[in-house]
Amino acid sequence: EEKLKRISESIRAFPDFPTKGILFRDICPILKDPKSLAAVIDLFEEYVRQNHQDVGMIVGLDARGFLFGPLLAQRLGIGFALVRKRGKLPGPTVSVAYDLEYGKAEAEIQEDAVAPGQKVVLIDDLLATGGTLNAACELMKKQQAHVLGCLVVVEMKDLNGADKLKPHTVFSLVQY
Ligand code: 5GP
Repeated sequence: EEKLKRISESIRAFPDFPTKGILFRDICPILKDPKSLAAVIDLFEEYVRQNHQDVGMIVGLDARGFLFGPLLAQRLGIGFALVRKRGKLPGPTVSVAYDLEYGKAEAEIQEDAVAPGQKVVLIDDLLATGGTLNAACELMKKQQAHVLGCLVVVEMKDLNGADKLKPHTVFSLVQY
């Protein structure tokens, strides 16, 4: 489809970033091209309207989930909440630790960001191993929110992140 073509043409690759051996997919050109950004939000909106009609909140992941999530939430007429790296959010928070390729990280959300029983859709720019989105799913579980599904612009298929997130579903626009 034309929209998908425009989006994939707006993603570029940088070898050896942030460390040697990693091929980093850079989504910044999507934001530079308003038609490409609109295409991303159009396709996410269409998917959520068809598959998750009862979504009550979009939850975006630090940091590039924040670029797409609020735009989508506005389209859907619902709210947006942030999952951040530890230590960035004021007030009472809940956190979960998770493993990175090297070392550990913590994902955190404000205690009152999502309500118990609320139906949420998670969003990030890219799915690699699934560790980050999986941590966000655990946070939602702690808060007794119900994850309807996950959205990403890019999915790195070889890393099998979608398997890690099961039974939650992943919808991606571009796959490598
Ligand atoms: P995972 O936890 O699935 O292994 O990694 C996904 C997280 O790392 C996402 O939050 C994503 O923003 C970031 N990430 C990892 N690799 C890349 C990449 O090649 N490009 C971009 N844009 N983000 C990446």
